[in-house]
Amino acid sequence: MNVNQSAPPVPPFGQPQPVYLGHHQSSYGGQLGSTTAPTSYGAYNGPVPSYQQTPPPGVSRAPPSAGAPPASTAQGPCGQTAYGQFGQGDVQNGPSSTVQMQRLPGYQPFGSAILAPVVSQPAVLQPYGPPPTSAQVTAQLAGMQISGAVAPASPPSGLGYGPPTSLASASGSFPNSGLYGSYPQGQAPPLGQAQGHPGAQPPQRSVPLQASSFTPPASGGPRMPSMTGPLLPGQSFGGPPVSQPNHVSSPAPQALPPGTQMTGPPGPPPPPMHSSQQPGYQLQQNGSFGPTRGPQSNYGSPYPGAAAFGSQPGPPQPLPPKRLDPDAIPSPQLNELPPQQKTRHRIDPDAIPSPIQVIEDDRNNRGSEPFVTGVRGQVPPLVTTNFLVKDQGNASPRYIRCTSYNIPCTSDMAKQAQVPLAAVIKPLARLPPEEASPYVVDHGESGPLRCNRCKAYMCPFMQFVEGGRRFQCCFCSCINDVPPQYFQHLDHTGKRVDAYDRPELSLGSYEFLATVDYCKNNKFPSPPAFIFMIDVSYNAIRSGLVRLLCEELKSLLDFLPSLLDQIPEMFADTRETETVFAPVIQAGMEALKAAECAGKLFLFHTSLPIAEAPGKLKNRDDRKLINTDKEKTLFQPQTGAYQTLAKECVAQGCCVDLFLFPNQYVDVATLSVVPQLTGGSVYKYACFQVENDQERFLSDLRRDVQKVVGFDAVMRVRTSTGIRAVDFFGAFYMNNTTDVELAGLDGDKTVTVEFKHDDRLNEENGALLQCALLYTSCAGQRRLRIHNLALNCCTQLADLYRNCETDTLINYMAKFAYRGVLNSPVKTVRDTLITQCAQILACYRKNCASPSSAGQLILPECMKLLPVYLNCVLKSDVLQPGAEVTTDDRAYVRQLVTSMDVAETNVFFYPRLLPLTKSPIENTTEPPAVRASEERLSNGDIYLLENGLNLFLWVGAGVQQGVVQSLFGVSSFSQITSGLSVLPVLDNLLSKKVQGLIDSLRAQRSRYMKLIVVKQEDKLETVFKHFLVEDKSLSGGASYVDFLCHMHKEIRQLLS
Ligand SMILES: [Zn+2]
Repeated sequence: MNVNQSAPPVPPFGQPQPVYLGHHQSSYGGQLGSTTAPTSYGAYNGPVPSYQQTPPPGVSRAPPSAGAPPASTAQGPCGQTAYGQFGQGDVQNGPSSTVQMQRLPGYQPFGSAILAPVVSQPAVLQPYGPPPTSAQVTAQLAGMQISGAVAPASPPSGLGYGPPTSLASASGSFPNSGLYGSYPQGQAPPLGQAQGHPGAQPPQRSVPLQASSFTPPASGGPRMPSMTGPLLPGQSFGGPPVSQPNHVSSPAPQALPPGTQMTGPPGPPPPPMHSSQQPGYQLQQNGSFGPTRGPQSNYGSPYPGAAAFGSQPGPPQPLPPKRLDPDAIPSPQLNELPPQQKTRHRIDPDAIPSPIQVIEDDRNNRGSEPFVTGVRGQVPPLVTTNFLVKDQGNASPRYIRCTSYNIPCTSDMAKQAQVPLAAVIKPLARLPPEEASPYVVDHGESGPLRCNRCKAYMCPFMQFVEGGRRFQCCFCSCINDVPPQYFQHLDHTGKRVDAYDRPELSLGSYEFLATVDYCKNNKFPSPPAFIFMIDVSYNAIRSGLVRLLCEELKSLLDFLPSLLDQIPEMFADTRETETVFAPVIQAGMEALKAAECAGKLFLFHTSLPIAEAPGKLKNRDDRKLINTDKEKTLFQPQTGAYQTLAKECVAQGCCVDLFLFPNQYVDVATLSVVPQLTGGSVYKYACFQVENDQERFLSDLRRDVQKVVGFDAVMRVRTSTGIRAVDFFGAFYMNNTTDVELAGLDGDKTVTVEFKHDDRLNEENGALLQCALLYTSCAGQRRLRIHNLALNCCTQLADLYRNCETDTLINYMAKFAYRGVLNSPVKTVRDTLITQCAQILACYRKNCASPSSAGQLILPECMKLLPVYLNCVLKSDVLQPGAEVTTDDRAYVRQLVTSMDVAETNVFFYPRLLPLTKSPIENTTEPPAVRASEERLSNGDIYLLENGLNLFLWVGAGVQQGVVQSLFGVSSFSQITSGLSVLPVLDNLLSKKVQGLIDSLRAQRSRYMKLIVVKQEDKLETVFKHFLVEDKSLSGGASYVDFLCHMHKEIRQLLS
């Protein structure tokens, strides 16, 4: 049901709405004073939809009882008195666990320094007597000892994810690889073994968790709160045109560049290029489509041909040689052709759509001009293009990107096209320095001005009427009174004369200061706290992690005196190998609850929590489940305990970031549940060794700690009449169908939202989205960040296809598929993707392209990369794992992709491959990428490959000696160490250029990419080739050319 449609009008400003009275809404929907129910938030979401009547038990945001520690913590001195001065005695004897918290000064101006202020604050230590339920478990965190742990072999360090490659064992030594593969022999005792002796040694009362805290970085923009008068930068006097349809006519057929159309045999003259709209052709497609057009998202491909590509690898099937032509695929028509005609024409890889070319073209065409957001329905430049944004009334594409900027007017049309309607939203996205952060608007005591009915916030699309005394809501059409203090006259065009002085009337993105009504318990929040919780079990100590971390934290928080020095010593001789996990989170969350603040837990954890405690796990990894109906269980958490815990964390605004250092299976699928549901991050460093991995880990930690984060957040996406948000993907928790709850949300996290029609749209009005994020800044200020975006609507399918963005489509499809594996067999998920993609392209062919021979594959210009990118998703580790990919790798990647933005999914699925020695050394600009295929590698060159997680330097065997000397400081190719992860710093142009490029690539990504040097013909090259995604993969994934042919066949089947 759509709130916008159904909710009756209410009195202004968050007054109770009778029809919803009495619904106990657990989150933000309750109205002020509406009930005595424990409504913890005020006016945020307005009316409560009827389906929210009964929140699941245990998840309501019951206010933390003021001051009094929760019952479960009663035994510990964690009440008010707990916040005394830091006491050394608290950590003596190991066993007592301590959680130390530092709270910020009451108010901190935005943009203030990150760590410094805290230093002068008295450290607030909570000598944490753990709550009864968690007491024993926390005490066991350090784990039980399994005697005689095997002396570790020097494990290969992890790379993007995953333990060392199994190739390593084949070769005997693989010093720095470790992308995939099984764990090395001789590591810590296998879990099964450990599980055998759970009671062998009583858990020591050692203190597993050690906590310290400091000030999170201030969030929000540098703007100071009230901002009503001044002229806005980037605001031209002309003001934003708000509703100009972008396209009224179809483009000329010639507009299509080559490559869009793949013709059959080169011999005969090419058939006419596609023309976009065929009058009279449009509405007849149903007949031809009819029976073959599959239902929307049913699983299972009705097309027999799909099987080969949708199926799981198994032994790689002998794929056909590169096809000559799509027509070479057997089909009734082609069987009549003489054989030589089927095989005569090889498909030239250069003749099929090239991602590199598309990216380059967009850079050249759109990289020089700023993207001005004043025009409705404009497709922004690609994520791979550097461009500046001028906000003139619509949110920047850095905040919102859509699968299409021109959406069908009717649901029938949308179903016909099968193009998902989705927006990828990054509410707190970081902006380049040249772009201003959102202005903060203060509407005073009455709070932000909103529509009385649908609760949408004041925005540039609201229409002022009756001389400015009232406004009509652009989302629900309700007529609202303008409060006297907000009144302003209109000019002759009906626009308020102060429109350009007010961000909320002229910009796509801005913030409101929230009033106390928007705060939990009607009380302004305390500044959030950070808590560090360190696993000090055997593996953590042995690997050097604990010492490294404590050193780093000392520099991050130099106020912490000797405690951090003591921790490594205290546990130096620990033999504990069993750990607990859930109780650690519980303890941190309880600490925040006692402190009555939101915050973030940083968890550092090494192993499967097998100690007897809540959330105890068993090793249930079973690769034999791959390709069975039970494969989905590998992605599902093995207990519901973590979901329950996550709900409690969300209610407290407790975001959990998890740093994993596994030597073997740790069940990432289960351990990542809490980070996932609380808006946190998971980092994984397989077989962590200080010397190999400290740079990556410390870099990730520093970046994570300094991230801008919003806490205790709720996001709501409102839409104008006709469409509504129906599905959400990302790291968050949802207790109803509309409110996305985020204990924490940082500037890298993305929420993908899918929309569906619930009514007819019209071309004149277009469609509007408004994303409102209510959050607590790091300085403890309650704010609302608003993003608005207006889209065009169309009655012609060609307009839809002309305004799509494939990168965003892929982001949505990957997330859809990655969620699908939780419930459906992987093969089914893959088939669904293929089918949907074929339907999208077939609909285009049928309705928007000129009739032409079936031998032609005609792709919409905006979607010509859909096949190549989709193939990358299909052969990704989650959907088609090779033998070397572990269950934890897959769960980890699945979890990562869920929160990725469009730029991240783009490079993750189609890595960038940069030749380093092709252009002159003096040329310092980033070299143009080449296609991710082995045949693009020349053995006389060196290449960098990155996908946002991994970074390879590939060295051809024929590289000139001088180049080898300049880059590696050795005299020949054979002397280069395979697997090297650090290049020597040498005083020459090439070395500096490559180092600079590596630095620049790393700076662009949210996680540190560790470098791995790969030599041509070396065993490690297999790992590298996994990322050459246009090629056939070892796991059975199709090459680009083969997949394109396959798609063509699917499309033809749909059309015939
Ligand atoms: Zn409204």
